[in-house]
Amino acid sequence: LASREAHPESSIINVSGVQIGGGHLAMIAGPCSVEDRDRMYRIAESVCESGANLFRGGAYKPRTSPYAFQGLGEAGLEILRQVGDKFGIPVVTEVTDPRNVELVAQYADMLQVGARNMQNFVLLTEVGKSHRPVLLKRGMSATITDLLMSAEYVLSEGNPDVVLCERGIKSFDPSTRNLFDVAAVPVVQGLTHLPIIVDPSHATGRPDLIPPCALAGLAAGADGVHIEVHDCPEEAKSDGPQALLPEQYQEIAQRMRLMADLL
Ligand code: PEP
Ligand code: MN
Repeated sequence: LASREAHPESSIINVSGVQIGGGHLAMIAGPCSVEDRDRMYRIAESVCESGANLFRGGAYKPRTSPYAFQGLGEAGLEILRQVGDKFGIPVVTEVTDPRNVELVAQYADMLQVGARNMQNFVLLTEVGKSHRPVLLKRGMSATITDLLMSAEYVLSEGNPDVVLCERGIKSFDPSTRNLFDVAAVPVVQGLTHLPIIVDPSHATGRPDLIPPCALAGLAAGADGVHIEVHDCPEEAKSDGPQALLPEQYQEIAQRMRLMADLL
């Protein structure tokens, strides 16, 4: 179902009125975790002004340590929904547990399956049964074939709306958090009709590398860019060190739009 051979035309995925793919650029921005309401409003207001068309934030966080902040749960989903409604922007959030898919789908416009869960086949089957579009991130040790097979799990359950995301893979080099596999974009596009976006935040883990990698992703043909933004990275509950400030996002958003217009 995912293969380009069987479906030569590129798919356009509609997320509550925002189209992704076929020349429609997804500009996904927001903090790593949903935090308090005032902060979410501030960040959303700024990224909307910069031209973001999807707002992100995790209410269920897959953390390496069980003692680290795990997310606000349903309270976070409520805040995210309120922010989405207030600014008229669809919201995307991660679902980590198959038992929560229905709950998360009640609040979110798009369900994210994170890198750590890319091969959680029970979760993929559940999101495949839901009627929300899915943002499927590449596992940090997953091949492109693995990624496409995971998409197949969702599609084969009857949910045709999958957007793929390259977010960096494990490498031997600690210079960057992960290794941004920019070639994955055209490789994936050759193999599937599904849109693919890039996430230079998790791919590099470094704010200074986000702008060049965002532009590189678009130059390679990506259908969108996913960037973490926080107004006070030192206070962020997760992934603060890799967050862009709102004013930095504004600058790269402008450059991304210029780049997209050139292509
Ligand atoms: C995230 O989007 O905050 C996240 C946890 O991403 P990934 O699954 O790519 O690590
Ligand atoms: Mn994050």
